Amino acid sequence: MHQFINGKLLSGTSGSSLDVINPATSEVVETVGLASLADLESAVAAARSAFPSWSRIAPGERAGILQKFARIIEDRAEEFARVESSQTGKPLRLTREFDVPGTINNIDFFAGAARHLEGKATAEYSPQHTSSIRRESIGVVGSIAPWNYPLQMAAWKILPAIAAGNTIVLKPAEITPLTSLMFAQALSDAGLPDGVVNVVVGDGATVGAALMRHPDVDMVSFTGSTAVGRTVLEAASVNSKRVHLELGGKAPFVVFDDANLDAAVHGAVAGSMINTGQDCTAATRAIVHRSVYAEFVAKVAARFDGLVLGIPGDTNADLGPLVSFKQRDHVAGMVDRARTYSKVMAGGYAPTDEGLENGAFYRPTLVVDAAPDSEIVRDEVFGPVLVVLPFETDDEAIHLANDTVYGLAASAWTNNLQRALRATREIQAGCVWVNDHVPIVSEMPHGGFKQSGFGKDMSAYSFEEYTQVKHVMFELEGVTRKDWHRTIFKLR
Ligand code: NAD
Repeated sequence: MHQFINGKLLSGTSGSSLDVINPATSEVVETVGLASLADLESAVAAARSAFPSWSRIAPGERAGILQKFARIIEDRAEEFARVESSQTGKPLRLTREFDVPGTINNIDFFAGAARHLEGKATAEYSPQHTSSIRRESIGVVGSIAPWNYPLQMAAWKILPAIAAGNTIVLKPAEITPLTSLMFAQALSDAGLPDGVVNVVVGDGATVGAALMRHPDVDMVSFTGSTAVGRTVLEAASVNSKRVHLELGGKAPFVVFDDANLDAAVHGAVAGSMINTGQDCTAATRAIVHRSVYAEFVAKVAARFDGLVLGIPGDTNADLGPLVSFKQRDHVAGMVDRARTYSKVMAGGYAPTDEGLENGAFYRPTLVVDAAPDSEIVRDEVFGPVLVVLPFETDDEAIHLANDTVYGLAASAWTNNLQRALRATREIQAGCVWVNDHVPIVSEMPHGGFKQSGFGKDMSAYSFEEYTQVKHVMFELEGVTRKDWHRTIFKLR
């Protein structure tokens, strides 16, 4: 039973199925019966019929359900961590210490946000009228999530939508659907009414595309690649849906000559290898001042060579595999092509060590001497690969940082206040860290500039995205012919 529709776990009726594979071992975790378009119709209908009552219940009541839900996930944290690791291959250390606690923190945040509707003061902005603002929910939200952080992506999509009184149909990535289904069931256990959250596990090109196009869906929220994001924009135009897009990234990591170099080296290793590099904010282009370039490259290469790959339960493992062999082939293909025009200083191959032979592993890879317009510098790898580019002047560093169609995240490494301020002002990205790379907090927004999309996840900004503002205006004088009518016809 791998569809969650109208409060019940059901079987998909498409007739086709998909094995969820642990990419660290190639073991089949579960076989999922995929959704048909008829299943999608049922889910949208359930969300539509749940909307009127859910949007009208008091925010405090919605918050109460979310608070209870947070405690359920807390009690079941180990189970969520294990299932998340089994469908993605992530080390248990990562799912226990990042994915699950991050999700609980998000739930607690949105339980609070549900009770904080904000707007302008009610007042007489014209002497003859009183104006006020209503902040209302939008309706049925259709959401699509990727496979890199399945549990956290379900949280980022579902929580602001329902906290703001909407109902939702989520389509997780079909290769990693298990924790999204558990998430929806646990919400139901916490008292969420049937139909408010529905999870449809189906193929992207058919079920995903139909959800984005569906005439009874009022808003779409998509996290995934920039290429599919463009098709979502087109599909949403059918009935002018509100659109929220969180797309690809190619984050710069700029190291100035005054930086604490060892801190930058540690930061580059952690920032590029987080989740085996399958993180849209991961450091991918280290842009390093020429005077410290050689030392930076040597130190990062040595640390990459020392990283231990392993299966989820291996407590010694630093990194897991890629999410699938398909993703590993994609990464290996880009590195192999890069070999012809640049130099691979570490990694660049799939390991054959004992215990790793059945997994989609790839060694942490460091690439140097690539031209700024080469594929490995420009395109998203979404794997354990860091490219290093040298620079001479601050202007050049900022230019290289912005020389990309993406703009999701970036970091600047310096102890010079003016340089740090300039970098935070001039680098075009939704988040710029100074002397760190990757940390996120529920209170602050995550979202892109440029072709990394628009709209924010997490924070009060994301809550606002899932509401619409209504201006209500009361005429105060009760006159038949208003003074302003003179602009339309002569007052006689
Ligand atoms: P993807 O775009 O291939 O797939 C994402 C989701 O879209 C999946 O659920 C998939 O089934 C669905 N999909 C595929 N084709 C579709 C179609 N034609 N219509 C509707 N849905 C369709 O991306 P991916 O490979 O799963 O994830 C990696 C990408 O996600 C990277 O580009 C990464 O940068 C991006 N990402 C972005 C963020 C962010 O916050 N900006 C976060 C995580 C991942």
